[in-house]
Amino acid sequence: MNNSVFNVPHPSNEPVLEYREGSKEKKELKAALKELSEQYIEIPVIIGGKEIKSGNTVEITAPFDHSIKLGKFHQAGPKEIQLAIDTAMEARKAWSKMPWFHRAGIFLKVAELISTKYRAQMNAATMLSIGKTAVQAEIDSACELIDFLRFNTYFMQQIYSEQPMLNSKGMWNSLQYRPLEGFVLAVTPFNFTAISGNLPTAPAMMGNVCIWKPSTDAVYVPYLLMKIFKEAGMPDGIINLIPCKSSDLSNIAFSSRDFGGIHFTGSTKVFKTIWETIGKNIWDYKSYPRIVGETGGKDYIFAHNTADIEQLVAASVRGSFEYQGQKCSAASRAYIPMSMKDEYMKRMKEVIGTIKMGSPFDFTNFMTACVSKKAFKDITSYIDFAKDAKDAEVAIGGGYDDSKGWFIEPTVITTQNLEFKTFKEEIFGPVLTVTFYEDAKCDEYLEYCNSGNEYALTGAIFSSEREFIAKALEVLEDSAGNFYINDKPTGAVVGQQPFGGGRGSGTNDKAGSYLNLIRWVNTRTIKENFVPPVSIEYPHMEAE
Ligand code: NAD
Repeated sequence: MNNSVFNVPHPSNEPVLEYREGSKEKKELKAALKELSEQYIEIPVIIGGKEIKSGNTVEITAPFDHSIKLGKFHQAGPKEIQLAIDTAMEARKAWSKMPWFHRAGIFLKVAELISTKYRAQMNAATMLSIGKTAVQAEIDSACELIDFLRFNTYFMQQIYSEQPMLNSKGMWNSLQYRPLEGFVLAVTPFNFTAISGNLPTAPAMMGNVCIWKPSTDAVYVPYLLMKIFKEAGMPDGIINLIPCKSSDLSNIAFSSRDFGGIHFTGSTKVFKTIWETIGKNIWDYKSYPRIVGETGGKDYIFAHNTADIEQLVAASVRGSFEYQGQKCSAASRAYIPMSMKDEYMKRMKEVIGTIKMGSPFDFTNFMTACVSKKAFKDITSYIDFAKDAKDAEVAIGGGYDDSKGWFIEPTVITTQNLEFKTFKEEIFGPVLTVTFYEDAKCDEYLEYCNSGNEYALTGAIFSSEREFIAKALEVLEDSAGNFYINDKPTGAVVGQQPFGGGRGSGTNDKAGSYLNLIRWVNTRTIKENFVPPVSIEYPHMEAE
């Protein structure tokens, strides 16, 4: 069917459900939590729609309760990774030729299935497997993922509609947005179901085929998503799920001649290692691979002495401790004027004192546990370092307990040493390090904030004075890809605040926008001449 120019429905953000007591959504979510926590699932490798059980399994345990075993997943080895590449390249032949509006229909259906039939299941799976509270799951595995799918589909059509402005007389110029001539590797992090789902679907929507390597801490929800893709009509082999060891992936996928690109989200160190490997193999590829990566952050809150203290404290607490600080955008360093020090610390203690931490089954909890033993060890080593340091103080929290789950208290460290380890390095846990500056040295500290570390992901300033806001916007121009004025540095919404950072925080290709989708196409310019010349002479060659 090709005698029509279709229009993708204009997207709007998926409404965030509130899960109030007695609500339908709360009852459904509670039922899904019960059901999933009582069953034990076996997750296969999925290649070309076939389920493969390698026998090399890893158990999945709820981060907040070591006794809740959710299931186990099979890991792909080198043989399966190669099979996934070959299968994807075979599937590419038909997928890359499928009219784009049919691909759009599949992804819009995925969005609809998550919005309705699978919403409770997706949220429950996210809560159980990576330890989110109900609201944190709802804004992630339901709303943000649905938004990614609907907005991207819309942007896809916009991209395809973008055509050369001019056609000289007698000719017709066009652009064709071909998929990449190879497979795309989607390497996903543990902390966001939405990101995990977006990394393979964005390239696939543009006609590419994908190998999806999920984080070993988050394989449960990708498996559910694979089932939803199938139900929505996605042909086999377009997205292949291969949980595996990173070393196996590197050895096979990055040395394949058909490696077309990587869509990565994770830590800066891993991304740089991957880039280095790709660089070493550059002579072996058919094309220059597209490298898209959103990586780490050391996100800041900078307060001016005209800031509203209650707004500042609420943003500091929500921005630093929601989802246990395991958001790339989480505030983890704060610059507070000395004149506000006492009030700020007093209110921070009071507000943090009200935080309840525990199982996500109890909806009154604000925080649950960190994702894994490794995360627990990494984060607590920073807290212990601060406890032992002479130039810092653990002013709030600092406790941790792994007897039932990977629980770490919301922790505030204070220091006047801008080089202090916890003030510079990404911790990826519920730890905020605060420094206090003399009010008169505000300009100087803005400069320190700009150059304080290798990252530039998110940042927030708080002030009621326009002159300060204007100056901070300028001085901090390159310090954050997402900049907030009088708001916490987390919670970007698709279609509203396209997300991504610069410097060591990534290639800043703004997930959920046309800027990202455009990386997954390889444009062909087509010029058709209706009246081709029949001689080789030019006017200037006339006899003098
Ligand atoms: P991670 O870097 O440990 O892992 C990310 C993915 O890379 C996982 O699938 C992992 O298995 C894989 N991986 C690890 N080593 C690899 C290697 N050598 N070769 C190939 N793949 C490899 O990150 P994580 O712990 O899952 O997530 C937390 C990190 O992600 C933080 O640094 C956070 O800031 C970042 N993050 C960034 C954004 C963003 O949009 N900028 C969003 C979410 C998370």
